[in-house]
Amino acid sequence: MKSIAEILGKESLEREDLIRVLEADEGECGPLFERAAAVKRSGVGGRVYLRGLIEYSNICSKNCLYCGIRSGNAAAVRYEMTEEETIAAARHAFERRFGSIVIQAGERDDAPFVARMERILRGIRALGGGALHVTLSLGEQTPDTYRRWFEAGAHRYLLRIEASSPDLYRKLHPDDARHRHASRLEALGALRDAGYQVGTGVMIGAPMQTAADLADDLLFFRDLDVDMIGMGPYIEHPDTPLYAHARRLPPAQKRLELSLRMVALLRVMMPDINIAATTAMQAIDPGGRERAILAGANVVMPNLTPARYRHDYLLYENKPGLDQAPEESVELLEARIRESGGSIAYGEWGDSGRFLARKSGGPPA
Ligand code: SF4
Repeated sequence: MKSIAEILGKESLEREDLIRVLEADEGECGPLFERAAAVKRSGVGGRVYLRGLIEYSNICSKNCLYCGIRSGNAAAVRYEMTEEETIAAARHAFERRFGSIVIQAGERDDAPFVARMERILRGIRALGGGALHVTLSLGEQTPDTYRRWFEAGAHRYLLRIEASSPDLYRKLHPDDARHRHASRLEALGALRDAGYQVGTGVMIGAPMQTAADLADDLLFFRDLDVDMIGMGPYIEHPDTPLYAHARRLPPAQKRLELSLRMVALLRVMMPDINIAATTAMQAIDPGGRERAILAGANVVMPNLTPARYRHDYLLYENKPGLDQAPEESVELLEARIRESGGSIAYGEWGDSGRFLARKSGGPPA
């Protein structure tokens, strides 16, 4: 059996290499994290980009089997922020020198929602003359909606594939016309056509998922030539059908370790993309985001959602930071990043290097 160091010495990582690393004993993985840190230094440097997260609404028309705000969860208390509240949260981000925000919500495609989001985007663009970059994470929409939101001021879009395997995707979602793997792939193509920097991602350690599935996910990201990734450990929510598998899952810490390996492997495979240190990592370990940064991530998303809504945007159990002011979270983060030799890039858009290289016709880093 090849050592991890031997595998990492190869020019290109193949499926069996990825499976071997994902299944390796913990004590074998030092070379992986060392390599990822070196690739990160030369690919994107030591700076960490901020994305202020605004959880606009937990109203969702879909019913994904793992999600706490699925439409079938009658226990969820639903909310939608007003246009004024959303623009005020964006202004707060701008004044705190965040270069960029993420607007996230459950998936809806009704005409009033689409028009409201368009107005919000125009309102945000007016702040500081377009100084704030906007990422949307609002699910599958028509190509026309993607184009309208892009023209109104959105720059990036995160649409997690959740599972690149159609078979696993089907097990994690209801088997109906609203939850089709093929539609999700089409939507990712439409986003690129509309001009966005495109991000995707998966859950890690989900029920019925294998190391081979995760290896295929990494190859899927590479083949799709993504600009950014948001992936993190699967965390169960008691009001979901997948909770029935909770007792058979590996411990949460193991899912976090696996997530850190996924981040490190992806950094080695795609040196110049943006990789987020996600909140789900912090939910398992208070230092999870910082560990992800050391493993290769370069983006963090402090939560700027008004406090009165935060408790209702619960995709999974034990979500952290529900009562923490964003200032506290950023200050703590900044101190920890400094300790590890990095720094926060205030006031910068932090566009994906991969996206910029593609736009200018250059090769990947
Ligand atoms: S994962 Fe997204 S689309 Fe699915 S139920 Fe949750 S919010 Fe809705």
